[in-house]
Amino acid sequence: MNTQQIANQPVTFHRYNTVIVGAGAAGMNCAVHLYEFMKRKGVEAPQDRIAVVTRGLGLGASRMSGSDKQTYYKLGTSPNVPDCAKAFADTLTAAGCCHADLALAEGISSLREFYHLVQAGVAFPTDSMGTFIGYKTDHDPAERATSAGPKTSRFMSECLQKQVERSGIRFFDNQELAHLLTVGSGKSKRIAGVVTVDGSRISESNHAISVFLAANVVLAAGGPGELYETSVYPRGQCGVHGLALKAGLVAENLTESQFGLASTKFRWNVSGTYMQAIPRIFSTDAPGEQARDFLADFFPSMKTMATDIFLKGYQWPFDPQKIENLGSSLIDILVFNERQKGRRVFLDFRQNPLGARSMQPFHIDELEPEAFEYLRDAKALQKTPIERLAHMNPLAVEIYREHGIDLHKEPLEIAVCAQHNNGGFAVNKWWESSIPHTFVIGEMAGTHGVKRPGGSALNAGQVGGLRAAEYIVHAYGSDVAHLPDNSDEIEQQIRGLVDKLERWSKPSGRTPQETIEEIQGRMTASAAHIREQNDASESLRKAVQLYRSIHDGGLAARDSQSIIAALQAEHLALSSVAYLKALVDLLVQGGGSRGSYLVLSPRGIPIHPDVVDKATGEPLAFKPENQDLRDKIQQVEYDDRTADLFRCTMIEPRTVSVGRKSFEPAWREYREGGIYQI
Ligand SMILES: Cc1cc2nc3c(=O)[nH]c(=O)nc-3n(C[C@H](O)[C@H](O)[C@H](O)COP(=O)(O)OP(=O)(O)OC[C@H]3O[C@@H](n4cnc5c(N)ncnc54)[C@H](O)[C@@H]3O)c2cc1C
Repeated sequence: MNTQQIANQPVTFHRYNTVIVGAGAAGMNCAVHLYEFMKRKGVEAPQDRIAVVTRGLGLGASRMSGSDKQTYYKLGTSPNVPDCAKAFADTLTAAGCCHADLALAEGISSLREFYHLVQAGVAFPTDSMGTFIGYKTDHDPAERATSAGPKTSRFMSECLQKQVERSGIRFFDNQELAHLLTVGSGKSKRIAGVVTVDGSRISESNHAISVFLAANVVLAAGGPGELYETSVYPRGQCGVHGLALKAGLVAENLTESQFGLASTKFRWNVSGTYMQAIPRIFSTDAPGEQARDFLADFFPSMKTMATDIFLKGYQWPFDPQKIENLGSSLIDILVFNERQKGRRVFLDFRQNPLGARSMQPFHIDELEPEAFEYLRDAKALQKTPIERLAHMNPLAVEIYREHGIDLHKEPLEIAVCAQHNNGGFAVNKWWESSIPHTFVIGEMAGTHGVKRPGGSALNAGQVGGLRAAEYIVHAYGSDVAHLPDNSDEIEQQIRGLVDKLERWSKPSGRTPQETIEEIQGRMTASAAHIREQNDASESLRKAVQLYRSIHDGGLAARDSQSIIAALQAEHLALSSVAYLKALVDLLVQGGGSRGSYLVLSPRGIPIHPDVVDKATGEPLAFKPENQDLRDKIQQVEYDDRTADLFRCTMIEPRTVSVGRKSFEPAWREYREGGIYQI
């Protein structure tokens, strides 16, 4: 480590073999594996070659998010139902737009990583024979899911962190990513390291800039949760998408995010047993008065309505293919519709659903067989939803109590929230990005297609970290980065950053907070689970205008802490352009409703006769999926020569063969490192 004066600022330089950005479940796991691979290879002091850099050790989705029983989707572990990686991969690719090699790699290394977590101390439940018990999750034909409770991903990160700490790898906390240092161009372009601003040290006179030079960079900064106003991502989870796009990393499937019902006061998914307990769902006006059981207007009977509420449990993400014929995603639409009228929507676990006058009252034994048999088998036929929930999953009640909400005493406010980005950055089968030596893992990697089984994000994050670590150590080696010959290029970029931060330290103008709120409002209105081409095009135009105005006129960061928010506002602004550009481009190409969003079209399928377009009074209609686009993956790349700042290209998903290999030649290929030649 050394400190240099650059543009009148003390800039601290660190040098590592690999710098990991992000300390969630994915980043932590990659650090553990890097250490192990180096150690096994006989590399001296691996701990001094690896660093984890994050804006907050306790932040991010892994540490702060979950649901009733947060799901980890792995290859089957049933003692009598066989499963295999190919079948697992087929499930991941089933809804299209997914590279088969990534899906297969996620299947092949699934159990290796699952057992790694078990060994690290994550308490996944077993029976008395040692079987890891499975259950069925959304988009899951087998019972591959398991859970360590509402906080599975938090336990994963914490157990892995202990392993990282034991190895002696250093964490750099409070580091807001400010820039990715690029050197070279074209095929020889590299990311030479990351530049951060230390949120705990920043002051009026010192921007607290650090440079982490690295031979390899692993980006594990999670999803861009702060892009949306209505979001269940933990507050402050910005990610670094804008910075990575600007550095030239190619993104894929940015149109594909997941949306679903979640509580908003304390951000938490209300999936699984929260809905299987069948709470009353009602709305109120803004002050919380004038309660109305609004769902009852749209269902012919209590039986269908209550069963739909139950089904939301394991059909949790909003899914346009589950709207017609009173499918369970009609509930998401109705919740959204009600909130659009300025009303607030609540789950009330103290009462069973209330119907219209024409409906029979709620009787648990009059549910559709799928719901009744599930509750009967779970011995959850108690009188009230809270009793059923507490019986099935007491931890699901406890998590709210920990956050000051007593489900026995108060209703829970909910909305249809942005929850996960299935798309992200393009990676190859070793999770290396479009720029060599830069790897992207966890939610930042765009490895999921249009739909993913619930829980597969956590599996993908672990496998990605393993694969990236293996490739780095075996294909690129463990040497620490030296200052490259083109260090002028680096110094110039640091000067550029200092200059920008100084220009932003001004008292008047657009504030970072206003900017972030504008982005969030636009993204929730135009790029969430309800989309429309003209509206999205107009939002894209405004998003480009906003980014250009930040670029030309800067932001007004009135104090040193606002500098951090200004950095976030700038890269979120660029991310929002990329997401909207991708969305508009796909709609122009004939994209319809798929994954977790609905595309409105006057000539489409009516959602429900009583869900009407406010402007025309006509029933709202949606365009069905364009299935021809299932075998196309949309790539998005920054190009400031284009009007919308990004270029979109369609590529074919990669295929993979699973033919049998003879052992001896495969062994030779492994020994000689041939497996890393791609
Ligand atoms: C409510 C909810 C429920 C979920 N339930 C499930 C589930 O049941 N099963 C499942 O598989 N998935 C689930 N997910 C998704 C899953 O939790 C995430 O995809 C996963 O935890 C992401 O892990 P990660 O390590 O990639 O990123 P994260 O855990 O988000 O970590 C990101 C890291 O990057 C750091 N960081 C972020 N931005 C910056 C920046 N600008 N500068 C510096 N550092 C930065 C953060 O501080 C953090 O350390 C859920 C998500 C949510 C929100």
